[in-house]
Amino acid sequence: MIRLLNQKKILRLLYRNNQLTKQEIAQMLNISIPTVISNSSELIKQGFLEEAGVAESTGGRKPTIVKFIPTSRYSFGVWVTREKIRIILTDLNFKIIDEINFNMIDQLYDFRDIIVKVSKYIRDIINNFSISPNKILGIGFSLPGTVDEYKMILKNVPNFGMKNICFNEFKDYFEFPLYIENEANASAYAEAFLNFNDTKSSLVFISITEGIGTGIIVDGDIYKGFNKRAGEFGHMTIVKNGRKCNCGKKGCWELYASKKALLNQYKKAFDDENKNLDDFLEMSKVDKKAQNILNTYIDFLAEGIKNIILILDPQNIVIGGEIFSYRDLIEKKLMNKIFENNSFYERKDCTITFSSLKENAAILGAALLPVKEMLF
Ligand SMILES: [Zn+2]
Repeated sequence: MIRLLNQKKILRLLYRNNQLTKQEIAQMLNISIPTVISNSSELIKQGFLEEAGVAESTGGRKPTIVKFIPTSRYSFGVWVTREKIRIILTDLNFKIIDEINFNMIDQLYDFRDIIVKVSKYIRDIINNFSISPNKILGIGFSLPGTVDEYKMILKNVPNFGMKNICFNEFKDYFEFPLYIENEANASAYAEAFLNFNDTKSSLVFISITEGIGTGIIVDGDIYKGFNKRAGEFGHMTIVKNGRKCNCGKKGCWELYASKKALLNQYKKAFDDENKNLDDFLEMSKVDKKAQNILNTYIDFLAEGIKNIILILDPQNIVIGGEIFSYRDLIEKKLMNKIFENNSFYERKDCTITFSSLKENAAILGAALLPVKEMLF
């Protein structure tokens, strides 16, 4: 147990620092040099590390450098949305090595059908790259609903009209361990782990796509709540007795502030089913009516974010998902609205940014799940 913990500590340290001498590792982790030597030779045997020459001596023998090998293992990420499935293969630096997308078709409505297709594509990717199966850590799934990752159950997916899908039943389709997580939680992990070097311990990720999902990181880990559904901010009431939601409630935030909500408002106002969001957004640069719709949308988005700040007081809020395509049109107004007219907080109290992972946060978060298991 202690050996395993020490090995994970050494792996984490080298993962962040790329290469260090054995002396430096001992100092930084506060463990003895013989412990570093025996554990790092075990990690070299397993292929995670390699020796990379010697550093200048500071007196006595020249210290040996050990180096992390990012291609020592690989991970699969799968992101399931209402429209399509994305599958990626990454190395340990989260470089995307291969990607396959397929569209959801309505007949594919047994979840098992999706799994069968995913397993076929994963086999294709492995054959393409001739990666040895023992180098693959596992397959992480980013899912659009509440997830119990220990019981491996996708509990509630209002937008698919599905409940209680048990991933343990799908194990036989794959030769690697499976991991599942809610897509907003996975995105929050990705933001915290890939962009912030784990130093940002308090973060809310707001994913704006078809709906709105949020992932909450407190003290460096996801806050899930007693029934694993914390952070369902997309379904907090923003208009009492408002529009009817798939979840059974009325006036949920995502019906006013998601990408789909914005598009629906445009279609309704202009009685035009054929234009897409880009067309309408282009119009909003010159047309007053289109502009007003965008402003109302930004108002609703800001109201929800203000509530989140008041409830959680997070150090960081990261906005991601498909909102990226119209970020430039809303960013300035949104920030002003979030910070206006309140006596509780000012701009320096909460850093709000748009995700630099763009539309990749959820899928990289999926690929991160098996890697987290390896490092923590
Ligand atoms: Zn709802």
